[in-house]
Amino acid sequence: MWDIDILPTTRWRRAIILVDMNAFFASVEQQDYPELRGQPLAITNGEQGTCIITSSYEARAFGIKTGMRMKEAKLLCPHLIQVPARPHRYTEKSTAIMEALISITPDIEIFSIDEAFLDVTQCQELHGSPETIGHLTQQTVYNASGLLSSIGVSGDKTTAKYAAKLDKPNGFNVIPPWEAKKRLQHVPVTELCGIGKGIGAFLAKHDVYTCGDMERLPISILAKRFGNQGRRLWYMCQGADPESVHTEISAPKSMGHGKIMPPNTKDVLTIKTYLMHMCEKLGARLRGNNLRAQAFFVGLRNRDFGWLGKSGKCLQPTDDSKDIYQLGLRILKECWSGEPVFQIQVTAHDPRGAELQLDLLATHDEKRQKLNGVMDAINARYGAFTLMPAPLLKRSSMPNVIAPAWRPGGPRQTI
Ligand SMILES: [Mg+2]
Repeated sequence: MWDIDILPTTRWRRAIILVDMNAFFASVEQQDYPELRGQPLAITNGEQGTCIITSSYEARAFGIKTGMRMKEAKLLCPHLIQVPARPHRYTEKSTAIMEALISITPDIEIFSIDEAFLDVTQCQELHGSPETIGHLTQQTVYNASGLLSSIGVSGDKTTAKYAAKLDKPNGFNVIPPWEAKKRLQHVPVTELCGIGKGIGAFLAKHDVYTCGDMERLPISILAKRFGNQGRRLWYMCQGADPESVHTEISAPKSMGHGKIMPPNTKDVLTIKTYLMHMCEKLGARLRGNNLRAQAFFVGLRNRDFGWLGKSGKCLQPTDDSKDIYQLGLRILKECWSGEPVFQIQVTAHDPRGAELQLDLLATHDEKRQKLNGVMDAINARYGAFTLMPAPLLKRSSMPNVIAPAWRPGGPRQTI
């Protein structure tokens, strides 16, 4: 696993494909609304969103980038069209694509809502060469969604991901494993997925700027600073990333909901309504994934971008929104003394499978559990918050945002 392919062979010892949808959210909008085709679009969170989540290729040609403010973007492209995000539609489309990819191989890692790694090593006898399987993948995505994607084919995850971004949209790039080291040689290390500014700065201190420089750095220096992940970096830069395609969705280490509130919110009732809303969402998500947690972080964010909040514990592991809400009220009473705030966050630490937590001394309120069950069933059928505690009628109508860790059927749906 840790040694490097150096000789060309017809059957690759390891073959990895990365599929990346092109301007995914914007492409879905242009597909659903033909009048938007060929237009510069900026997707924002709701009609009032000020920050650009993503944009169409037509907008990118004007220099529009993710994270840019709408105001700033309009200066670059006055006829930019603002389109509110439709997370539900994007997850629906993504699920259809991911399900179709399973027809090629079950060894899929869904890397984000619009990206997936396929380990096709075992498919070469069935489907043909990695290059052929790459074309099959692009066609399969198109048939399932009507959308274009970029494909990278190589012998490891990092090189496949690099290959996929070489030409977009509708790109197709094959880097055979025995050429990977040479192809990456002059590529800046920070171009590789997983090497951000922090690691980049550390490497620069050791005179490593391009992937080719990495070979001269003793692997022990990386291992000492970053552990196993450091060793991986050394191999990644030489076109031999040992990381395997992870097909399992692991249990989340935390699960939370947060929301931006109107600026300078000071009103206790408003804050309590937001708190209840977040607790109801979190409780429903814990129950939906058959998880419970005992420790929760509850906090409000103020102008100085500091959190007024802390973590606290419920008496026992719970998935009941009312328990979380009661804890939240206690925490806010301690940490918040009326200063203006603009954001709320409620996060469950280390949620665990509910069935593992049968505590003999626990006295779960059976009536409340039944009520939660009925409420969840109705909301699953008729839409989130069809049934809810009365104060939530005044809750925020801002749409949900898709969490970066969203997976079809996974525990993370929105943040
Ligand atoms: Mg993409």
